[in-house]
Amino acid sequence: MGAFETDAVAGLRDFRRRLLARPDALMLELGAGGELLVARLRALLSMAMLSMPLVNLLAGGKASETMVGLFGVVLAIVLSQAWLALARQRQRHRWLPWATAAYDVSLTTLVLAILAVDSPVTGLNSMVVWAFYLVSIAMTALRNDGRLTLFSGALAIAQYGVLAAAIFALVPNPDQLASIDYGTVTASNQIQRLVLLALMTAITATIVYRMQKLVDMSGTDGLTGLPNRTWLVHRFPVMLDAIRGQGGSLAVCLIDLDYFKRINDEVGHLAGDRALRHVVGVLRQQMQEGDWLARLGGEEFALLLPLPLGRAWERLEAMRRTVATQPFAPEHGAELMRLTFSAGIASWPQDGADLSQLLRRADLRLRHAKLEGRNRVLARDP
Ligand code: GH3
Ligand code: MG
Ligand code: MG
Repeated sequence: MGAFETDAVAGLRDFRRRLLARPDALMLELGAGGELLVARLRALLSMAMLSMPLVNLLAGGKASETMVGLFGVVLAIVLSQAWLALARQRQRHRWLPWATAAYDVSLTTLVLAILAVDSPVTGLNSMVVWAFYLVSIAMTALRNDGRLTLFSGALAIAQYGVLAAAIFALVPNPDQLASIDYGTVTASNQIQRLVLLALMTAITATIVYRMQKLVDMSGTDGLTGLPNRTWLVHRFPVMLDAIRGQGGSLAVCLIDLDYFKRINDEVGHLAGDRALRHVVGVLRQQMQEGDWLARLGGEEFALLLPLPLGRAWERLEAMRRTVATQPFAPEHGAELMRLTFSAGIASWPQDGADLSQLLRRADLRLRHAKLEGRNRVLARDP
C-alpha cells in the first residue's frame, strides 16, 4: 500500500512536471506538424460550418440567427486561411500555437455571445456551438505541449463561466431563460458544462503526457539510457540548423568497441551488457555542454561534438585514452578487462551535408582504424 502510494505520488509529480515543462526540440518539431494539421482542420471545419446557418434557415430558423451565423462563418473562414498560411511557413513562430488556441476558444465564446444578444437561451443552451470548446481543447493534443492544453482548457472555462454569469446577471426575467427550441437554462446544467470542459482538459492533458512519454521511450535506448538512432535521425536536422545559424562546426564521430564479441564469449552476454554500460559511463564523464552521445545499435555509438575536425580529434583521442585506462570488472574481485574502441570522425560541412553522408564517411575512417590495429581515432582518409 505504501509503495503503491509513493508510486502514485511520483507518477503525479512526473505528470505535472512534463505538462508544465517546455517540450524539447523534437516534441516542438512534432508539434509544429500538429499545428499545421490543426490549421488544415480549422480551415476545413470553417468551410463546413457554412452549412450550419443555411440548414438553420431551411429548418425554419429565424433569419436574424442565420445572418449572425453567416457573418461568423465567413469571418472564421478568412481568419482560418490566415492561420493556415502562418502554420505553413518554414519559420516556426513560438507564439502561433498559443494565438491559435486562444483564437479557437475565443471564437466559440464570441459566437455564443452574439447568439445570446439575440436570445439568451440560445447563447447558453446551443449544443453545437458550445461543443467547439471541446473540439478546441482536444485539438491542442496535436501540438504536443501540455501547457497549451491547460491554457486552452482554463481559457474556455473562464470565458464560458463569465459569459454564463453575465447572461444570468443581465436577464432580469427568468422566463427569458426558457424557450421551446433550446429548453430551460438552469444554473446546474451550466455548471455541468464547466465540469465537462474541465474533464476534457484533463483527458487531453493525459493524452499529451502519455504521448510525450512514448516519444521519449521510442527515442531512448533501454540498456544505456542514451538517445538511440531514431532520436538522432529526427534530431540531427534541428541541431544542424542551430549550428548553421550560429556559424559553428560539427563533428560526427562513429565509435565501435574493439573485439567485443570476445568479451561476450569470455564473460557472457549479461556481463557484456554491463561492459557496454561501463564504457558509456566513462564516455559520459568526459562529455561537455553541447556534446551528444547516441547508441546506434550493438556496440556502436555516435558522438556529436560542436567542434572543428582537429579539435574533435583531440577530444575523442583523449576519451579513447581514458577508456583504455579504466578497465571493466565483470564481477566483484574478478580479473579486470581492458576495453578499447576505434573511431572515425567526419566533419560538417566538408565531409557531408547530412547525417547519412557524414556517418558513411566516418564509417570508412572507422574501418581503417580497425584495419590499422584498432584502439585509435582517425579523422582523415588514408
Ligand atoms: P571489432 O573490433 O572488429 O569491432 O570486433 P567486434 O567483436 O566488436 O565485432 P563487431 O563490432 O562486428 O561485433 C559486435 C558484437 O557486439 C556482436 C555482439 O556479440 C556484441 N553486441 C552487440 N550488441 C550487444 C549488446 O547489447 N549486449 C552485448 N552483451 N553484446 C552485444
Ligand atoms: Mg566492435
Ligand atoms: Mg560493431
